[in-house]
Amino acid sequence: MSTKSPAVIYLDNNATTELSHDVAGVVMDMVLHNIYGNPSSSHEMGTKIRTVVDAARYGVAQSLGCSSEEVLFTSGGTEANNLALRGVYDAHTGPPNEIVVSAAEHSSVINTVEALAGEEGHRIIPLLPTGELDLEWAERLITEDTTLVSVMLANNETGVIFPVKEIVKLAHKRGALVHCDAVQAYGKISINVTELGVDLLTLSGHKAHALPGVGAIFIRKGVQVRPCITGGGQEFALRSGTENYIGIASLGTVANEITRRNGGMESGLRDAFEMGISKRIPDIVINGREALRVPNTSSVTFKGVHAMSMLTALSERGVLASAGSACSSGPTKPSRVLLASGCSVDDSLSTIRFSFSRMSKLMDAARAIEACVSCAETLRQGTDSVG
Ligand code: PLP
Repeated sequence: MSTKSPAVIYLDNNATTELSHDVAGVVMDMVLHNIYGNPSSSHEMGTKIRTVVDAARYGVAQSLGCSSEEVLFTSGGTEANNLALRGVYDAHTGPPNEIVVSAAEHSSVINTVEALAGEEGHRIIPLLPTGELDLEWAERLITEDTTLVSVMLANNETGVIFPVKEIVKLAHKRGALVHCDAVQAYGKISINVTELGVDLLTLSGHKAHALPGVGAIFIRKGVQVRPCITGGGQEFALRSGTENYIGIASLGTVANEITRRNGGMESGLRDAFEMGISKRIPDIVINGREALRVPNTSSVTFKGVHAMSMLTALSERGVLASAGSACSSGPTKPSRVLLASGCSVDDSLSTIRFSFSRMSKLMDAARAIEACVSCAETLRQGTDSVG
């Protein structure tokens, strides 16, 4: 039974995605044909599942341009980010051990860095009003005292792409490692870890049409990382625990699809949506519009309209979107990312994120525009407004 009625327009793909047809096929096949086993078992059923895990690892490696030995599976993006940050921080010998992150990082990075290094032990690279990273500040903040820099490839709220290659140049010159959270970029733009030059990179299955509860981390050969989860020594002894082989198979399937289409998706739907909505509601602001963005995300500020009321009104018309980040702790809290790029509190509380997927249709964009126009009009006539 699908939780999504056919009439629903799902534009919350940065929160999670539906399974791709290929993934659904692979998962159904494993479930229906009772394909199971522990990849560590030496008998036939174990070795069969080991082959499934190895094939998925090869698939993910191919999609990132690295070798299989540099990919290990986790329970998702949050765990991969924790392993990157805690693993490198704990493996570092001797002070100083500073971490530098961008102001736009996901809470799984920001909160982990705060827990690890405290206020004194980390530096935050600010954003420009365009939503882009301030590279001049990055140059000042990354020093010989920096052990690790963590900068995401694409922001989950605005879709703005960050200059990870430039960050790598700055960091490596000063002897620091670079971790990149690529959760919101995987499958939307092409990613090659050699071209980027990063030392560690995070992926998440459910943001890219694979199952939830699986992710992967690229760790460049030779980078020293202390395990966060110890036990039976699975995943090169860096992430113990019996492998989630169905989830891993789903991620491998997605990785093969991504490799086949060279990593990216088209921006046509998002562009049509933005063009249409700007024409019909001329005073909206599209956050990050001037910057290079992933092709699926539109962060739209409906001035004077409360985002939560707008979301409710949109969902009554069958359009599902989200206010800022789906993972933020409170719906009425202004977005940290929007505030960091100079957005006012009121505007931040009036911002909706629409995120398309490669399964979205032109009709979805058209219906979303109509719904936005009618909801914004109704809410602006009412009393439930911001500012
Ligand atoms: N990093 C980014 C940029 C995200 O958007 C998210 C989820 O929203 C995560 C990490 C966490 O990924 P997961 O849900 O797989 O733990």
